[in-house]
Amino acid sequence: MFSIIDRDGVKLLVSDKIKEKHGFSTRVGGVSTLPHTASLNLGYYRGDDSETVRENLRRFSQAVGIPLEDFVSVTQIHSAEVRYTTEEDRGGGIFYKADYECDGYIADRPGIAPCVKTADCVPILFSSGDGIVGAVHAGWRGTARGIAEVCVEKMVALGAKRERITAAIGPSIGFCCYEVGEDFYSEFSSLAGEELTRRFVIPKEGAPGKYHADLKSANKEILIRAGIKEENIDVSLLCTACREDLFYSHRKSGGLRGSMCSVISL
Ligand SMILES: [Zn+2]
Repeated sequence: MFSIIDRDGVKLLVSDKIKEKHGFSTRVGGVSTLPHTASLNLGYYRGDDSETVRENLRRFSQAVGIPLEDFVSVTQIHSAEVRYTTEEDRGGGIFYKADYECDGYIADRPGIAPCVKTADCVPILFSSGDGIVGAVHAGWRGTARGIAEVCVEKMVALGAKRERITAAIGPSIGFCCYEVGEDFYSEFSSLAGEELTRRFVIPKEGAPGKYHADLKSANKEILIRAGIKEENIDVSLLCTACREDLFYSHRKSGGLRGSMCSVISL
């Protein structure tokens, strides 16, 4: 189950399925003052100057209890690329531009904190329960390309027990607000296959050519197919587009928005 906690004014979500230090940020508790980034924008290049973003990142890291120096959060490209991170990756995307891009991370030692940025896309945090953690950014392309499964397989290759892995699927745009068209349907289907697409991209009643996509449930299903137990998967019920008071939404804002972070560390 997810809960919202408040630490010195910074609101964040945590899941009781994850025992390690972790958190999904909201937009509450930062110093950004632009209407579209107020107030806890954790993304560079969204309108705030770097110092403002850095201060927000510091506040979030303090609230989660993970040093900002440990964060790894490089440029995301809607791929299924999950990187095994080491000490050398620390601070990448936060204090300097990394020389690689990816959409997920795993780590198996303390002092490295996988972190993904979202604003409608699906953030997923993973724990093996015994020393391996992960984070992925699953937009519709990443979801369809199966990044959640890639993360599980990389964790298992490192020694994680599949039946013990837990996953928390964080706040993202819900089925309620994620309307898509024919192009989406066919592109999603060509990446994910017709069966998964038919289950999670549902025709909108009375609107030919329109659909509603359920990315959270699609990711949950992908995890179950990858051997993760259903009782080990937590899904946030909150929709980023419905709850503009709590979250940034790319869709709702027409792209003029801040970014949220989801981070985990041993
Ligand atoms: Zn909604």
